[in-house]
Amino acid sequence: MKQKILVTGGAGYIGSNTVAKLINQGFQVVIVDDLSTGFKELVHPDAIFYNAEIADTSLVSEIMKKENVSGVIHFAAKIVVPESITEPLKYYSNNTNGVISILNACKISNIQNFVFSSTAAVYGNAGADIISESTPTCPINPYGFSKLFSEQIVRDTELEFGLRSVVFRYFNVAGASRDLKFGQRTKTATHLIKIASEASLKKRDKMFITGTDYQTPDGTGIRDYIHVEDLSNAHVLAMKYLLDGGSSDLFNCGYGQGFSVREVVNCMKKVSGVNFEATEGPRRPGDAAKLIADSTHLKSKLNWKPELNDLEIICKTALDFERSLS
Ligand code: UDP
Repeated sequence: MKQKILVTGGAGYIGSNTVAKLINQGFQVVIVDDLSTGFKELVHPDAIFYNAEIADTSLVSEIMKKENVSGVIHFAAKIVVPESITEPLKYYSNNTNGVISILNACKISNIQNFVFSSTAAVYGNAGADIISESTPTCPINPYGFSKLFSEQIVRDTELEFGLRSVVFRYFNVAGASRDLKFGQRTKTATHLIKIASEASLKKRDKMFITGTDYQTPDGTGIRDYIHVEDLSNAHVLAMKYLLDGGSSDLFNCGYGQGFSVREVVNCMKKVSGVNFEATEGPRRPGDAAKLIADSTHLKSKLNWKPELNDLEIICKTALDFERSLS
């Protein structure tokens, strides 16, 4: 019989891509998503869908038991750094209380395999050239803190009821599935590659380069952009690893290569053929100068083999997906 995996936030950007990979790999998938930031259009047609809030512990545990779920991948969260600064309670409530609710549901339903989405924002301004899992954490915004607290809670829960977990710290996830079915639909997204796609398609008049005075070669922020399909594959590997009895672990997810904002903007101009306006502006509060992942551990322990490590593919799939929305 096929194993069933419950995916919270399965109607979201990374969640929907992961659901597609799980289904392709022979799993059955149960999605729990309240569609607050997710989209019906991203619900995979072969998944079982529950429109439910992760805060509703008893409902989620009922779903887990009814569906006989073997493992949980927990994506559902708020993820916008600037919003976390103006509305921190929303982040601690959704993200940190949210994980407590899901873990309680796992405890009630006796589920011991758990994959958790965390973020490179836990490292803050790490200062290191390349960030490994042992680089000290030091968040610089409530989003990063909300995820760091959640990580600790996930780890501590192992002693309470034997939960084994894989925690992924995502660097900058971007692009869309190559079949253009699953991508970033959020209209108010603040992420660079989404915004540059919109600017290319004239969905916005111009965009801003937020900060040109960082201690980086061209003065703009440097990030490690990872294609959403490669990241989704890592989740499938993680779930298989846990189902095979693997012990709890933590992995950075990125390619180990950084691009500046200017490089990303130029790449998007190249793949779109549109010379859109990118105006230099002030720094965005809470932004780090440089975040690049050391993903050696992910490659060696989970045998992760990235296939789409190419900024042009990332920009092109993001752009084509954006075009498909209009
Ligand atoms: N950025 C930018 N203009 C935008 C959005 C983002 O210059 O309209 C910059 C931002 O300052 C950072 C990088 O692009 O250096 C990536 O930001 P994004 O919001 O995509 O991801 P984050 O790293 O904040 O999670």
